[in-house]
Amino acid sequence: MPTLTNGHAMVQDVEKTFGQNTFGLSEMKSRLPKAVFKKLTATIDKGEPFDETVADAVALAMKEWAVERGATHYTHWFQPLTGRTAEKHDSFITPNAGGGAVAEFSGKSLVQGEPDASSFPGGGLRATFEARGYTAYDPTSPAFLVEHNGSATLCIPTAFASWTGEALDHKIPLLRSMNALDTQASRALELLGEPVGRVYATCGAEQEYFLVDEAFFEERPDLLVAGRTLVGAAPPRGQEFDDHYFGSIPERIMAYMNAVEAELYSLGVPVATRHNEVAPGQYEFAPIFENANVAADHQQVMMMVLQRVAKRFGLACLLHEKPFAGINGSGKHVNWSMSTSTGENLLDPGDTPHSNLRFLFFCTAVVQAVHTHQDLLRASIATAANDHRLGANEAPPAILSIFLGDQLSDVFEQITATGTATESKQSGFLGLGSPVLPTLPRHAGDRNRTSPFAFTGNKFEFRAVGSSQSVSFPLTVLNTIVAEAIDDLATKLDAKLGKRPSKKALEAAVREVITDSIREHTKVVFNGDGYSDAWHKEAVEERGLLNLKTTPDALATLTDAKNVAVFEAYDVLTEAELESRKDILSEQYALTLNVEAATTESMAKTMVLPAALRYLAEIGEGAESAEDLGLDSSGAKALAEGVVTQVNALQKALGALAKARAAAHKATDESMAMKDKVIPALTKVRAACDALEKEVPADLWPLPTYRDMLFTGK
Ligand code: ADP
Ligand code: MG
Repeated sequence: MPTLTNGHAMVQDVEKTFGQNTFGLSEMKSRLPKAVFKKLTATIDKGEPFDETVADAVALAMKEWAVERGATHYTHWFQPLTGRTAEKHDSFITPNAGGGAVAEFSGKSLVQGEPDASSFPGGGLRATFEARGYTAYDPTSPAFLVEHNGSATLCIPTAFASWTGEALDHKIPLLRSMNALDTQASRALELLGEPVGRVYATCGAEQEYFLVDEAFFEERPDLLVAGRTLVGAAPPRGQEFDDHYFGSIPERIMAYMNAVEAELYSLGVPVATRHNEVAPGQYEFAPIFENANVAADHQQVMMMVLQRVAKRFGLACLLHEKPFAGINGSGKHVNWSMSTSTGENLLDPGDTPHSNLRFLFFCTAVVQAVHTHQDLLRASIATAANDHRLGANEAPPAILSIFLGDQLSDVFEQITATGTATESKQSGFLGLGSPVLPTLPRHAGDRNRTSPFAFTGNKFEFRAVGSSQSVSFPLTVLNTIVAEAIDDLATKLDAKLGKRPSKKALEAAVREVITDSIREHTKVVFNGDGYSDAWHKEAVEERGLLNLKTTPDALATLTDAKNVAVFEAYDVLTEAELESRKDILSEQYALTLNVEAATTESMAKTMVLPAALRYLAEIGEGAESAEDLGLDSSGAKALAEGVVTQVNALQKALGALAKARAAAHKATDESMAMKDKVIPALTKVRAACDALEKEVPADLWPLPTYRDMLFTGK
């Protein structure tokens, strides 16, 4: 293996290793009979139904490929509503008549699996005695090989449904929503005189995460159990110097990132950029965008690899949205657009968006969709963890607005005013004042970090998505609501067009349709500071936008008539499926807070209070010594008084927390009660613990501190 001048092995040849652990198109092509390959690609590329008569051939080729690479087992890999992935491993081994065994894998085993569904959240979709659930092969997302110590497992992406055919996972609705978007967008393109084969949603999800030394991680019960620190005083230095963002990457982290990339490349996940994020100890990976269904699977693979590889480097990877209070949290920017099967991006404005009617049509549809369904988008990112980010002064606000940037906003304003736009602001070039530096072409608009949903050149970036969540539900919502808006605009357009409209008549009709929509929905466009109080007021009071601050508020809207209607109209989720999602998400919210409350309580009682009392004893001894020496012990007594005050405050806060939890358990709406009663009680316990952390000597403090975790061991 070639080496660098510093003696380390050179990173692999990416061209050779990319996708080597996936059963992708080139493997399929070389291993499958031509006719089978053709049928399979018709499903993958054109969305045609999977022909089950080819299943045996596909299974055989897949098994041979996997076994050659050390696979002993296969698993139907799926995404239950926990938001994580699930796998049950089955061995390929089948005993044969001669007393030996052979590796076998039939088409039937490829196509359908039957995990016991009763232990996965079903949200009332089935009674516990109806435990049957099925996994079904998704041929459109490549199977991949996960290597372990000495063996490997073939992972087959699958959908997961109940015995009655209802979706128990995140993949089924996502695929259904991709279909809805394709149908409506293809129809609109036909009306616009630009028919294409298919349209699919694209997604590139940027992943933020923290790394802390594994030794510290294991000494923190809160990180281990709840994924975030439940107590912990702010360090003397946080992120105020803004010197971590894009800073040079420390050696150990770089080694980690290289290993993560190597693994992701071989799994066919196209990671492209890596950098330090804003907070100390925070980093990001971003992939190249792909078909949204594949991107959603790859996103799960990325989270899995990030966490597994960390252990190899003695690190722990924290995917939680807010591992450290007072320090920036982590998100997952979901970049989203629509692409034609010929590779054209429908949200590419070109240089003169004002005259690009196709772009204006689809962009208007997105604006209309977001305005109409702010609540659904908010609900799609609602978790206890993400509530710590949204609305805090570092993350997108909980109010869903759209940043369009200067150029597009100007075009939209022209349309609002006159029904047509006649020019697009051009930005020209940027001179840097030194002859040796190049002249830079300037983008037509600046960026805006405070917007939850921003147009960034040729795609929208949904920034409010949480770092630990599956991107599937946000994508499902986006696809569905945009399909509805396109349907609406297309229907209106259709009604205005005669049989064979002239180019001029078509243009005029498109302008009319988008003008009406823009006039009605432009309220959701906001280019200013999304963090400001003025915006919160204006958004709600003047523009009538929603500010669903917390998860229970957002989830309450999920099954509103309007929302049931849109999911049912496009065959994405039935009312029962939507209800089940709401139940599961509410339950997860309550469970999360319950775990946090129990963990905080136990840490306070078994770690913080004992440390404080030990310190008190030490102070007592110190005061006694001073008095024995005939000296003034008032300083020591003052210290003791401070500690005792905090100990008493903590003890009282713990009593209140216990009461709040008991009340929440009895409440009819447990998640609402958790929010209203338990969160404030938790906040008080934490405040008392953090006050003690600032008093108690470092050698008595039983927990790694923020300083330890954020600044050392990198
Ligand atoms: P930016 O400079 O706005 O961050 P990048 O080109 O770096 O843009 O892309 C950020 C993320 O957006 C990447 O994951 C990228 O793959 C993704 N992305 C780019 N174009 C599209 C698109 N058409 N659809 C979906 N995601 C996209
Ligand atoms: Mg970003």
